[in-house]
Amino acid sequence: MLRALERRQAAFNARFCFYDGLMPNIRLPDGSIKIFPAPVTVAEVAQAIGPGLARAALAGKVDGKIVDMSFRIESDADLAIVTERDPEGVEVLRHSTAHLLAYAVKELFPEAQVTIGPVIESGFYYDFSYKRPFTPEDLATIEKRMAELAKKDFPVVREVCPRDKAVQYFESVGEHYKAEIIAAIPAGEEVSLYREGDFVDLCRGPHVPSTGKLKVFKLMRVAGAYWRGDSRNEMLQRIYGTAWAKKEDQDAYLRMLDEAGKRDHRRLGAQLDLFHLQEEAPGMVFWHPRGWTIWQQVEQYLRRVYRDNGYLEVRCPMILDRGLWEKSGHWENYKDLMFTTESEKRDYAVKPMNCPGHVQIYNKTLRSYRELPLRYGEFGACHRNEPSGALHGIMRIRAFTQDDGHIFCTEEQIEPEVMQFIALLQKAYADFGFTEIVYKLSTRPPKRVGPDRDWDKAEAALATALNAAGVPWEELKGEGAFYGPKIEFSLKDSIGRVWQCGTVQVDFSMPGRLGAEYVAEDNSRRVPVMLHRAIVGSMERFIGILVEHYAGAMPLWLAPVQVVVLNISEGQAEYAAHIAASLNRSGWRCEADLRNEKITYKIREHSLQKLPFQLIVGEKEKAAEKVAVRTRGGEDLGQMSMSEFTARLRNEAPGSSAV
Ligand code: ZN
Repeated sequence: MLRALERRQAAFNARFCFYDGLMPNIRLPDGSIKIFPAPVTVAEVAQAIGPGLARAALAGKVDGKIVDMSFRIESDADLAIVTERDPEGVEVLRHSTAHLLAYAVKELFPEAQVTIGPVIESGFYYDFSYKRPFTPEDLATIEKRMAELAKKDFPVVREVCPRDKAVQYFESVGEHYKAEIIAAIPAGEEVSLYREGDFVDLCRGPHVPSTGKLKVFKLMRVAGAYWRGDSRNEMLQRIYGTAWAKKEDQDAYLRMLDEAGKRDHRRLGAQLDLFHLQEEAPGMVFWHPRGWTIWQQVEQYLRRVYRDNGYLEVRCPMILDRGLWEKSGHWENYKDLMFTTESEKRDYAVKPMNCPGHVQIYNKTLRSYRELPLRYGEFGACHRNEPSGALHGIMRIRAFTQDDGHIFCTEEQIEPEVMQFIALLQKAYADFGFTEIVYKLSTRPPKRVGPDRDWDKAEAALATALNAAGVPWEELKGEGAFYGPKIEFSLKDSIGRVWQCGTVQVDFSMPGRLGAEYVAEDNSRRVPVMLHRAIVGSMERFIGILVEHYAGAMPLWLAPVQVVVLNISEGQAEYAAHIAASLNRSGWRCEADLRNEKITYKIREHSLQKLPFQLIVGEKEKAAEKVAVRTRGGEDLGQMSMSEFTARLRNEAPGSSAV
């Protein structure tokens, strides 16, 4: 929007000058203003700025709203020309590529019916109703046709027509799903259609001005998906694709996917013998000895963090009476996600979160303001009955353990507590090998509890804490929980993927609901504020992230087996066993492989296990009372005495429990 002064000036011009008022003043992102003698399209403004920009333009942003190049600006407005350099531009490309996909499918498979085709992260999909699944060969043919249609550079034209006419049109061409979607729009409204070549689709837009703008895309895979996501409906064929502004961007994305595939924690979990899942326990993990060792290292590390930061570790029951969940509000709002059970005519729920349990401990005695802040931490096992379709390896499961903490405090303590939490979270992430953190502050949603002045204070406290930490952060307006604002912490992994793990949330609701209070300085009874906080979130998911981040090659302090000793022949078996035993005694995790196999075979096998060090002992080493040290990367560090080697271990894993 124009600033008030400019607006007044424009209004003055409109009233007292010769022209008729339809002279849009268009303000560009650099603050300059262009005046046009009559309503003007985004394309015409781009042309007026320069032919280079006009060629690069994909869409316009008028007063913050993305529109087509053909959009007519009738009155004063802020305008930015959107090109492939803008994230919105890439979204428009992806959305338009979804339409191009539908166009190509309709040409090749005229019986297929179109449904919906939204943009998703890094690409798009489109759901078709078709008599059989599309094959990889189909995808190749469709992609080729898309490229041909793009080359023809068909203009993409927006048309507006009454709802009923659109329903009629789509019924007449046999597109029953489209007709159904449009029929759900309120009667009397107009709908926008987009035409490119012979293909017409219902869409809100916006789209690129012509198909020639779509140059970099790839169809990825096909999957079944129910119409409207309901398993009682017909199974549709969903084609996934990706689209980018530049070939280099797409290549980098495909390389990342390839890399992600190699690092897939489900694959590595089996290869490294860390864990498994099986059908009898969907979404619940069987931890094998090596995986559980990693777990123990993560847990022990976090336990030290708790201890050093004034947390008291607690443990609560897994199953609690329905009455408690009714009081906490979970029974009413969360029931579908809870596992329930009954015994002696009482209903119980398996806890989906730990907070109500911690309030029970808090409530056990009358608290004084002097005890606050009171910090409880728990490695809390939770169960949530997630739909089976949502489950994914150990990243999204039904039984998981949170590194959960709750801080009971006064309003004034929110800010210092959050500051302290941000600092400890940053240190923990860095210790696990993540240096890039993304910070987001979610503020009050429309539906919420508590008076606005509480929200004002809490939001200000969180913002101040973030500013004090000196980190860049983004505000997500309206995305806070109904019970309070929150900060979410995401970490970036070694191939650039972002994982939300940590959180700190202010809660104005639960302490009051569950009767928590404290005696204030003036002897009045007050309800404490509760902060929910987690560093890694779900332990299972975090270990999955660690495995993918390190591609299974865990840093020394986290590695399930840190050292493996390999003898070359039977003659050194005893010496090898002795070395392994002495390392274990001094706290390192060490195994000996004394099998009567070729040394090259043993080295290769242990290399695949990605264990940090291999100690090879032959006659020479035995005679010199030394070991030949090899890293998992295949580097030969030469002969070392045991004291030299353990010094190296200590150097590489200073925080390790080994002495
Ligand atoms: Zn909680």
